Amino acid sequence: MDIAELFVRHERERYALNDRYLNDQMVRVLYAIGYDVGFCHGKGQYLFTRDGTRYLDLLSGYGVFAVGRNHSQLRKALESVLAGDLPNLVQMDVSTLAGILAEQLLARVPYLDKALFVNSGSEAVEAAIKLARAATGRPGIVYCDHAFHGLSYGALSLNGDDIFRNGFEPLLPGCARIPFNDLSALEKALHQRTIAAFIVEPIQGKGVNMPAGNYLKEAAELCRRHGTLLVADEVQTGMGRTGRFLATEHWNVEPDMVLLAKALSGGHVPVGAVLMRGQISRKLFDRMERAVVHGSTFGSNDLAMGAGIATLEVLASERLIENAARIGAHLLHALAELIPRHEFLRDVRGKGLMIGVELGPPKSLRLKTFWHAIETAREGLFCQLITIPLFKEHRILSQVAGHRSHTIKFLPALVITETDCEWTLNAFMSVLADSERVPGAIWSFGRTLVGHAVRAGV
Ligand code: PMP
Repeated sequence: MDIAELFVRHERERYALNDRYLNDQMVRVLYAIGYDVGFCHGKGQYLFTRDGTRYLDLLSGYGVFAVGRNHSQLRKALESVLAGDLPNLVQMDVSTLAGILAEQLLARVPYLDKALFVNSGSEAVEAAIKLARAATGRPGIVYCDHAFHGLSYGALSLNGDDIFRNGFEPLLPGCARIPFNDLSALEKALHQRTIAAFIVEPIQGKGVNMPAGNYLKEAAELCRRHGTLLVADEVQTGMGRTGRFLATEHWNVEPDMVLLAKALSGGHVPVGAVLMRGQISRKLFDRMERAVVHGSTFGSNDLAMGAGIATLEVLASERLIENAARIGAHLLHALAELIPRHEFLRDVRGKGLMIGVELGPPKSLRLKTFWHAIETAREGLFCQLITIPLFKEHRILSQVAGHRSHTIKFLPALVITETDCEWTLNAFMSVLADSERVPGAIWSFGRTLVGHAVRAGV
């Protein structure tokens, strides 16, 4: 059976099929914002439509395609797993490839000694909650405002945005929310000594919020003093995204657990990992009887493990982490230089190739009216006046960094080049300039969007 051929035969039906059998609201959204272009190929940092039009993908499947889409080395590695007739998922055996991948990952995080493989970022978070409770004998987990750790029940209980939580309660008891970057709130929460773990994204994905100065280092110290484990959720920031293998390295922090997923398998196979101190693992798996007390049928499967090993090899051989640091610094600097020239531009922040561009109300009265008209219809709508023209007119795929957010996020493959940066910068400048022309094309487009927002009841 040729699946690629099946795709070609049916790709024109994708919206109808999804409308009928899957999430029809997603199809409505795509139609409403004109993203129904029907991508047919992906290569590296680019996506291609049926007629060959090339788009620059600054979203990279929410960060999974760090090594770029359809990398030849990844394909070869996966083909070799399949060609090898390997003894996959024997269950009453242990996995050779998981052993190799664990050794290679832990060599990059030398203060941790054990790994546990799962199938997604959320599953890594679920495992971390259980591991922390088992290791400390305490029930509580502390998490931050605006945190995103996934949408399964444990992970959702640590979600810092009510839009995701509302309607799904009751969530896991014992979870306490504190503001990000607030050390005294953390100290207060830890004081009771009932908290098993503090879980934190080194850079928050929703909003691209940066940790202040010594926040992470001091948070680690507070956790150590109160017997609480520090869990760094590096599902998005890890695997080189920020210009270091782990984002926590920027602040010399050594968490007790590190969570990875997304880019770990090069985007091809679902995967997740918990890296941890040996004593945490030994508390969970403390006797033979409990050897299967936590795990998952597909965890450590050969395709995911093989893809993980190949991803580490590509990151090293193509020096992609160095590229993320270099290109990211260039892009951040060039974007920040636009701030004094564009009224809607508030802030540019990030590290490596995780970049947030924050918009805000302009100074001039003329533009302020425009901003308020859009934002009154729905908070955060203004960002879409930028991301949609970026897509439709400049063929750049980007995203708004969360519900009701004023921050646009760039999360490209780590393979992007200077030429791609020029493409991004020119497009961004052009869309910003258009947004300042009132009345103009973006103004009338804004009116259409407001119409959609009102009809959608948001
Ligand atoms: N943690 C973080 C920081 C994430 O960004 C995400 C996904 N966006 C998750 C956890 C959940 O991962 P998954 O979607 O693979 O379950």
